[in-house]
Amino acid sequence: MSLSPDRTVAELRELQELTGDENGAQRVAWTDTWERARAWLREKVAPTGAGEEIDEAGNQWFTLAGQSERALLLGGHIDSVPNGGWLDGCLNVLAGVEVLRRLAEEGTPPLTVRLVNWADEEGARFGRSLFGSSAAAGSMSDQDELRARRDADGIALSDALAVHGVDLDRALEARRQLEGAAAYLELHIEQGPVLESLDLPLGVVLGTFGVERHLVRFRGQAAHAGSTPMDQRRDALAGAAKLELELPEIARRVGGGAVCTMGGVVTKPGIVTSVVETAECLLDQRHLDATQLAELLSNAESASRRFAHEEDIEVEWDKIWSIEPIPFDERLIELADEAVREVSGTSHRLPSGPLHDAAEMARAGIPTVMLFVQSLRGLSHTRLEDTKEEHLELAVRALDTLTTKALEGFA
Ligand SMILES: [Zn+2]
Repeated sequence: MSLSPDRTVAELRELQELTGDENGAQRVAWTDTWERARAWLREKVAPTGAGEEIDEAGNQWFTLAGQSERALLLGGHIDSVPNGGWLDGCLNVLAGVEVLRRLAEEGTPPLTVRLVNWADEEGARFGRSLFGSSAAAGSMSDQDELRARRDADGIALSDALAVHGVDLDRALEARRQLEGAAAYLELHIEQGPVLESLDLPLGVVLGTFGVERHLVRFRGQAAHAGSTPMDQRRDALAGAAKLELELPEIARRVGGGAVCTMGGVVTKPGIVTSVVETAECLLDQRHLDATQLAELLSNAESASRRFAHEEDIEVEWDKIWSIEPIPFDERLIELADEAVREVSGTSHRLPSGPLHDAAEMARAGIPTVMLFVQSLRGLSHTRLEDTKEEHLELAVRALDTLTTKALEGFA
């Protein structure tokens, strides 16, 4: 039984049939449908002889013993957003099953190989992404906040977890799963338009973007729209508008794939008869390099002060949230590049805009890399999410080839 990537495509369709409807995938974590998907996965893996274990955070592990107890980890997530796509997360789980089948047939691998189905990557029901992987990585530090979380029906997160055998107070005990982890590999759909625009099926992910999120508040003076001459206004929206139009220039100047987004502006008083007194802007800036991310931020800050001066208004900045860039392992990036070239001829390296479970593994100090496969039209988190079947099959081959290289390189 050699590798059969077409079986992975058939199983992805089978899973969609079992756990989706006309609106898309419905495998929201901590629901009956999600549990059904896990039980289905258990049956798929059983013939390989890999042993199953569900850890304290609800992560589902399948372990194929190797010559060494040190382990190569393959990860994905079978949970989806409501009305989700047929590939997000479960592609890697099922590609991983195919790799396990191939390895199990060939005998005992040099390293133990473990496939992990992370619990609640999406955070769709309780608004907390990367639940299982952050518990295993030991970076989960918001248990008190999590205890207070409820879903739209008022059900507490801890009660929903308990139904599936998970005790929130013990979730961090999942850390022991990473003892002896030699490397971590994750395949994922790109969820963006870059590979399609380059006409390439596969890419190697360099790491996940660092993010700086701020509330930028411009303050002017409300004044009557009819009686205030144009040259005597202190219009807060003018500062916000100038900053928004400057963002492409700042991203271009810093370069290296920088992205900046003003995702919202709220003006007050917000009536047609008044000059805007305050304009609150939501600003999101991302970069793979920490220094360049800091440059993006300082460029935007100084531009906002310049515009405030020009418009005779004030500006202040409040941080909403930030995370540092998480670069992946250079050696594994090289191996992934080789694997992609062998399978599809050309490789391309790109950063990941979204966070993934892989970022938690990299943060935990495990050598990590991801492969991306092209997403059609860049769409994800919708039933319109799609990838050509031939590209899905190449992706399974690339993960398998990378697994072989990692087993050699990290043994
Ligand atoms: Zn995903």
